[in-house]
Amino acid sequence: MTKIERKINVLDDKGYVMIHDVLGTDLTVANAARVSYAKKSATLTDGDKRLIDFLAREGHTSPFRHVIAQFEFNAPLMVARQHWKYVVGSSMLEATGDNMDAWNESSRRYVTEEPTFYVPQPYEWRSAPENSKQGSGDIVRFEIGESATSALIQHVDVCIKLYEDAISSGICAEQARLFLPAYGMYVKYYWTASLQSVCHFLNQRLAHDSQVEIQMYAKAVLELIKPHFPISVEKLVSETSE
Ligand SMILES: Cc1cc2nc3c(=O)[nH]c(=O)nc-3n(C[C@H](O)[C@H](O)[C@H](O)COP(=O)(O)OP(=O)(O)OC[C@H]3O[C@@H](n4cnc5c(N)ncnc54)[C@H](O)[C@@H]3O)c2cc1C
Repeated sequence: MTKIERKINVLDDKGYVMIHDVLGTDLTVANAARVSYAKKSATLTDGDKRLIDFLAREGHTSPFRHVIAQFEFNAPLMVARQHWKYVVGSSMLEATGDNMDAWNESSRRYVTEEPTFYVPQPYEWRSAPENSKQGSGDIVRFEIGESATSALIQHVDVCIKLYEDAISSGICAEQARLFLPAYGMYVKYYWTASLQSVCHFLNQRLAHDSQVEIQMYAKAVLELIKPHFPISVEKLVSETSE
């Protein structure tokens, strides 16, 4: 693995995505595909680039699974919950022998560090969509947003107080956390995945029908991973310009 550290803030001053490590390059993809012809390139050639284009276009996905990236996320649980659905190759499936990708998260069972929460700014609250049951529409009037932000801050404060009271009274952290408003609570997790998995996530979560908050995380993942695998990402991901 090549040790690298780069961080992009997402949503507010608490949310972020970091890239820690990558294994391989675009050349790894091309060489993995060429092994069946007993051929190997020392540097990425135009022929290798055309090969990567062919692999992506024709859905020959296995060569993209020889390159891996490791990310750290700090995201509200509502985002982490959506992200967690990308299970193929996950360590959660170890029982099936499919343990390529890995996910580890701070669970608040042991950690009693101060909980933090995502609270949208008054100008960030969106209306219900007009022609769809899911998703969101335009930004609501400022006064509505202002009142929602203030109500959510108060709600979080009350919940933190109840949580801290429970801890002070001797209740264990794994039950005291029931007092915390979960959807907006920040959770920190590591996500290690093959390039194919990462690009599958990107294709779904950069799309405009995805929840806006996870789109923001997907944009950060794209920005962090693209410099390491520029050709493969361009060929595998439909929206690479954002
Ligand atoms: C806009 C949007 C709205 C969503 N809304 C909801 C919702 O309301 N409720 C909800 O529960 N989820 C929802 N999801 C999550 C969605 O159902 C998927 O779980 C999530 O997008 C992960 O995608 P995936 O299953 O393709 O990923 P992975 O599970 O990582 O699978 C990757 C790919 O592997 C292949 N694959 C996986 N499993 C198998 C298998 N058993 N056999 C053969 N091939 C397989 C498929 O090609 C799959 O695309 C939503 C997702 C999006 C993008």
